Amino acid sequence: MKKLILLATLVGANFYHAQTQVIAHRGFWKTNPTTAENSIVALKNAQLLKVYGSEFDVRMTKDGVLVINHDEHINGVEIATSDFKSLKKQKLSNGENLSTLEKYLKQGKKSEVKLILEIKPAKTPELETEMVEKTLAMVEKYKLQNQTEYISFSLHIAKELKKQNPKALVQYLAGDLSPQEIKNLGIDGVDYHYNVFLEKHQDWIEQAKNLGVITNVWTVNDPEIYKKLYDAGVQFVTTNTPDVFLNINKSRE
Ligand code: MG
Repeated sequence: MKKLILLATLVGANFYHAQTQVIAHRGFWKTNPTTAENSIVALKNAQLLKVYGSEFDVRMTKDGVLVINHDEHINGVEIATSDFKSLKKQKLSNGENLSTLEKYLKQGKKSEVKLILEIKPAKTPELETEMVEKTLAMVEKYKLQNQTEYISFSLHIAKELKKQNPKALVQYLAGDLSPQEIKNLGIDGVDYHYNVFLEKHQDWIEQAKNLGVITNVWTVNDPEIYKKLYDAGVQFVTTNTPDVFLNINKSRE
């Protein structure tokens, strides 16, 4: 009986204090030697590391092709005002060509690691709506609906994702709306800079938990900040050092 009670206590503790899950920010590129952010190799590295998810940034070319790049420009060429034909030979710092979303999803399909897909804001709401349509269609083409989660700084994109696919899991990045406001909008989670949770609004983690709003934090590279967020019960942390944080998790099992 004592053993049973002990077991129940442990299961209970595990339920209420589930470990924070680690998301590799732009893939796992901070290897030795380092590789390019948002590269196919960085996604492969994240898959090998067995993180919860690997994050990447989606932008759209002038002629409507979805590509993976953080900045508006690649090697000085603006993505939104260039056709894909003139962009496809642009190289990342590791020598890879600029990847399309399609190519990225094909690699994503090879593992169960979640694809944390950030849709970058565009110049107009119409363009953002088009990006959402094309992204959802591409994810559906590869039957990755259950493996993909969406994030965006654009509230229009976040709302449009839920409107076009209510089953899509969507988190908002900008940090200006409370968990209650996010819940009221029908969005699933808050994915905010750690200062929002640790300094500006110290009640928001608890508020989110009480409302069933997902908590995710970017971009945490300091182990001490990671531990603070872990202890506060944050569900996901997005980081450039996923290997380090996975080791912290292991040490706390
Ligand atoms: Mg991003």
